[in-house]
Amino acid sequence: MKHPIVVIGAGAAGIIAGWRAAQMGAKVILVEKTDRIGTKILISGGGKCNITHDGPIESVLKAFRPNEARFIRPACYRFLNTRIIEMLTDRGLRVYTREDGRIFPVDQTSKDVVAILRTYLEEEGVIIKLESPVREIVAPGGRIEGVRTETELIPTHHVILCTGGSSYPRSGTTGDGWPWTSQLGHGLVPIKAALAPMDLRLKSIKDWAGVALRDIVLRSRLNGKESAKWRGDMLFTHHGISGPCTLGISRVIAEQWGEGIATVEVDLLPDHKFDRVDADLVNYKTKNPNRQIDAIIADLLPQRLVDPFLEQAGVEPGTKCQQLSKKQIHKLAEQIKGWSLGEVAKVILAKGEVVAGGVPLDEVDPHSMRSLKCPGLYLCGEIMDIAGPVGGYNLQAAWATGFVAGETAYEDWSGSSSGEI
Ligand SMILES: Cc1cc2nc3c(=O)[nH]c(=O)nc-3n(C[C@H](O)[C@H](O)[C@H](O)COP(=O)(O)OP(=O)(O)OC[C@H]3O[C@@H](n4cnc5c(N)ncnc54)[C@H](O)[C@@H]3O)c2cc1C
Repeated sequence: MKHPIVVIGAGAAGIIAGWRAAQMGAKVILVEKTDRIGTKILISGGGKCNITHDGPIESVLKAFRPNEARFIRPACYRFLNTRIIEMLTDRGLRVYTREDGRIFPVDQTSKDVVAILRTYLEEEGVIIKLESPVREIVAPGGRIEGVRTETELIPTHHVILCTGGSSYPRSGTTGDGWPWTSQLGHGLVPIKAALAPMDLRLKSIKDWAGVALRDIVLRSRLNGKESAKWRGDMLFTHHGISGPCTLGISRVIAEQWGEGIATVEVDLLPDHKFDRVDADLVNYKTKNPNRQIDAIIADLLPQRLVDPFLEQAGVEPGTKCQQLSKKQIHKLAEQIKGWSLGEVAKVILAKGEVVAGGVPLDEVDPHSMRSLKCPGLYLCGEIMDIAGPVGGYNLQAAWATGFVAGETAYEDWSGSSSGEI
């Protein structure tokens, strides 16, 4: 009897990897630290799970940075976004596609996704060991001999390592895999927050908690120079900002951290250029001399933010339009196009949906997910230096790389005789 393939981490990548290797004929043990499989899938999409992104796979790949897209392209062609949907809908999940291409379960619960994935594992006879944190990959002289958990040593020559990233540590992902990959010869791209909320230094921010801005552009600047921007919605939190726009620019801010002062600002009318906004305000003043400026700003901002916005522009709330000077109108137009929320205090890695950084992509073969440093080691999912945007892209990368890792591990396992005991 051969030693099994051991998959470490029952997240999106590990579930698909374990299932695929077992389906092809391997004996597979899936070892998971927490008391359930798919812990992060369960909390994904706010508990609704944005399973993947719709559309031709080339357009899905375009959402990633070019080097990341190049790396995951072969895997995504082997495990298309339609494939995971087929696997789930074949077993009764009903899904719908939002206008923006994000695919969710109709019943809005990630529990159904995980329950179905579990049936795939069970059907193929994958042995699932829960509450079994792995402590070590035993590899004397660089040859994998086993995986040590807290309670046992599992002999193996084939390890699929998919322990994920290090955000949301309470979900089990505490970056355990990286010390092992380092020991096995891999480098490490420094871990940085991505898709994360951020704290701001602005004192008044705590009064705005819970207020949302819709369809704005959030822009970041490093030492005054534009560094990133994202269009969509934004949410004020107790200490800063969150929501799609914030997550969208967080990776760039985290990457540039320490290089200078990072600030953020909001463009409230992204479809209009400054000159147009300025001219519209002048026209409004002429046509509505007795209306208060608050009314115009209230069209752009939730009521709670109107007074602070006007104060920041140096305009007394309650000012009638006819009282506004040219300079004040100019200032208001400037602020509508770039309302400064001040300096970023912190990008919160622990609350990020993913982390950037991890195992360098040039140390893994994109066609097989074999480690180029250690024979018998396969890597998939977020443990590698991949961080797509919000939209189902990260799960797609995990499913697809997991699938390829599972197939390759099976091929190596079935061709090897060294596992005989
Ligand atoms: C709040 C939140 C919402 C998200 N929403 C979405 C979304 O809607 N759509 C989307 O595409 N992406 C989303 N993501 C990102 C997505 O969940 C991850 O990119 C994806 O889960 C990564 O898959 P993975 O298998 O690589 O890692 P994970 O899913 O993180 O799985 C890693 C597994 O390894 C286990 N593990 C860790 N250490 C050990 C150890 N020592 N021994 C044994 N097991 C171990 C962990 O417990 C975990 O189960 C979200 C992330 C978060 C945090």
